[in-house]
Amino acid sequence: MDDLAHFCCQNPDCPRYGQRGTGNLSVCDRFAKGNHRLLYCNACKARFSEFKGTPLFNSKLPHDKAIAILEHLAEGCGVRQTARLLGVNKDTVTRLALLAGQHAKDTHDELVAFSPLDPRGPIR
Ligand SMILES: [Zn+2]
Repeated sequence: MDDLAHFCCQNPDCPRYGQRGTGNLSVCDRFAKGNHRLLYCNACKARFSEFKGTPLFNSKLPHDKAIAILEHLAEGCGVRQTARLLGVNKDTVTRLALLAGQHAKDTHDELVAFSPLDPRGPIR
């Protein structure tokens, strides 16, 4: 049984758009040895990749490589260091970092009621 509680419809015109755990989604197809699922929304009849709306969507990188890039960045490796260590182009690292940063910000804005004020003031 697929656990789709963390997924939501990605169609902005759908009445269930962005709502998780409402039971409107099901898995309608699988690719890449079952590692990539195509989801179906029974509210709007849309089909979309389970990676839509994430930094991994439409990435030509294998997902384990993309995850490794983000792990290196999260541990403090620079863009050039990460690119060298993993044998990828530095532009690839930059692109993924920007996508992941935006995704993290969106997730933060959705999940966190408000951000506490930083006593150090705004970043200059
Ligand atoms: Zn939908």
